[in-house]
Amino acid sequence: MRTAANGSISGIRHVVFEKSGGLPSQPQAHFINHRSMEVFRGLGDISRVVRELSPPLEDWRRFVYCSAMLKRVYGSVDHFPGQDSPYVPYASPEPVAHLSQHKLLPILLERAEASPRTASIWFGTQVTAIRDRGSEVAVTVEHASARSERHKRTIVCSHLVAADGANSRVRDWLELPMEGDACLQNLINIHFFSKDLAQQLSKRPAMLYFCFNRATVAVIVAHSLADGEFVAQVPFFPPLQDLGDFSKTAAADIVRAAAGSDVEVEVCSVRRWAMSAQVASRFHKGRVFLAGDAAHRFPPAGGFGMNTGIQDAHNLAWKLAAVHTGAASEELLETYGGERRPVAEANTLLSVSNYEDALRVPRALGLDPRAANLASAVISPLRSVVPRGVASSALEAVLSLGRAAADASIPLLGDLKEKALERLFAEDQTLRLQFPAEDLGFSYRLDRSMASSKEAGAKPGRHLRGGYVPSTEPGARLPHCELQPIGAGVPVVASRPEWIFANAIREAAQEADAGGQNLEPSGGGATLSTIDVVAACGLRPLLIIGPGHMAQRWASLALSIHRLGYPVQVLQILDRPGGAASGELPSHTAVARAVDVSSTWAASRGVSENGAVLVRPDGHVAWRWNALGPAEGADLPRRLAAMFGRVAHMQPGAP
Ligand SMILES: Cc1cc2nc3c(=O)[nH]c(=O)nc-3n(C[C@H](O)[C@H](O)[C@H](O)COP(=O)(O)OP(=O)(O)OC[C@H]3O[C@@H](n4cnc5c(N)ncnc54)[C@H](O)[C@@H]3O)c2cc1C
Repeated sequence: MRTAANGSISGIRHVVFEKSGGLPSQPQAHFINHRSMEVFRGLGDISRVVRELSPPLEDWRRFVYCSAMLKRVYGSVDHFPGQDSPYVPYASPEPVAHLSQHKLLPILLERAEASPRTASIWFGTQVTAIRDRGSEVAVTVEHASARSERHKRTIVCSHLVAADGANSRVRDWLELPMEGDACLQNLINIHFFSKDLAQQLSKRPAMLYFCFNRATVAVIVAHSLADGEFVAQVPFFPPLQDLGDFSKTAAADIVRAAAGSDVEVEVCSVRRWAMSAQVASRFHKGRVFLAGDAAHRFPPAGGFGMNTGIQDAHNLAWKLAAVHTGAASEELLETYGGERRPVAEANTLLSVSNYEDALRVPRALGLDPRAANLASAVISPLRSVVPRGVASSALEAVLSLGRAAADASIPLLGDLKEKALERLFAEDQTLRLQFPAEDLGFSYRLDRSMASSKEAGAKPGRHLRGGYVPSTEPGARLPHCELQPIGAGVPVVASRPEWIFANAIREAAQEADAGGQNLEPSGGGATLSTIDVVAACGLRPLLIIGPGHMAQRWASLALSIHRLGYPVQVLQILDRPGGAASGELPSHTAVARAVDVSSTWAASRGVSENGAVLVRPDGHVAWRWNALGPAEGADLPRRLAAMFGRVAHMQPGAP
């Protein structure tokens, strides 16, 4: 759906096949990071709708560790200390958000369906076979008619994006194995509503409640306190337990145990799932591309699953669009896996380490989930000699011993445990919610991806921890900076409507203002982010230049390259309001100027005022130069060619 939303923007004709009859009603992912919100911002007003639907920050800023949701609290961690909003103004024009996947998907669907000429969404249609014929892909689908008869049909397309989830059949058909740990932990998800519980939690609102008591160990996700919608995640130990052990009545009892009160509960569904840490060996084969959980699956701790999938779609959509419009060669598509796979590997490592962080509190309480899994593994073979019920009871006895040890009420926690917990909370050693360095700071290895179509050699990206540092290193996301367009808009001749860059960014600034997306109204007119400038450019590459004396030559060079088929848009950023530029820029529809009202660009642009930063349509830096000399002049067309996959081999080199 995310690729479809992107695809409709890019004008590619596409069909989405979804085997279910409609969108899911079960919540899963719920944390949307800055970069995903920026992608949504570039797709019209999706980010605004998400912001409006996201609950107030007070409802989800904390994780609470407790014996039960309404009982004793061991610790409460505020993930937005000193912040009264989820914005981080220096880093992004968009906040993080808390909106469940089943509420996000209808927004994306509406966006994809807004372009009926390019997008078709076929619900109730299952892909049952694919055949890559070299120049096209034949996709066999089955759908149920009104009389529930199955109908087969084959659709021929130029490329196939397989976003068919963690158990992707397309991935199996392509024989692309997953690498990593297939099961870190089995879990049961109990989706339930309880207005009663939500009301009683009004003085203790949180996004997650980690509950440890004699009767249950569970993590409760408060998807919406306003609606009383929750999901309880409970450890599950097959084959000693099976889904049948978790009837709706049993599930409601687990919820009440986690709540610590006899609250009214309406259980909607009970499902099992396995927490894995795996990445596909390759992200594409021939004309078929894996995206989302089909390409990577990892623990939800840190909320990277859906967000990583959104970035897959963002990386792939512009490349597919560029190939389909003839702007790029098919070679460009080869870079998809080389760029995305290392990010997926890094996010897998991060999510596993987050999962370990999440286990610190139960361990301090004397509960070790690994010990429970070990007990399950030891007891499981007993099933061949004793009835399943006996083996299951043995497991339950072991689990309840562990839970009892962690229960604060029998008797009071020992001093050692209390101290260990205090230390964990004081030293901020528990699971984090925000990961700005990984959310906004992930970077693509452009040389590697251009130098080889083989993804097997790609190594995981850097595992950054800490704050986000804006950077224009090639591969990095262009830093956010708040700009105000300057100069009069260019009048459009009605008989000859044409793309005028200066007008496009003025309109984008007005839209940003109207959507309430601007952080600090400057008083001097509408402002926009560098992120919006990239979105306004569509598939056109962007060259950002400074106020120095070489600006004019940079602009002339960029315009001269239009004849090679690269419609480079040139944006000159002046350092501060009232700041001057040396020399006039050529008057051209592809040249615009803006002033940096946030006064951050000079520090983050990473090049001198005579330098230039070349940006791809997905907002990642393609290259940068500190000044313009003969070598740099020759390099610009080379980098543009590489950006569109027209050069298979690039020499590695430092910018
Ligand atoms: C409990 C939990 C909490 C999570 N929390 C977060 C979070 O806070 N933030 C975050 O970023 N991520 C989170 N995640 C991860 C996130 O839910 C997944 O990464 C995300 O749903 C993956 O999206 P997807 O579109 O790739 O796959 P899916 O959501 O699984 O969608 C795949 C779709 O393909 C359809 N399909 C499958 N096979 C076929 C076929 N043959 N033909 C047609 N259709 C088919 C399926 O019906 C399904 O609709 C969480 C996951 C879990 C389990």
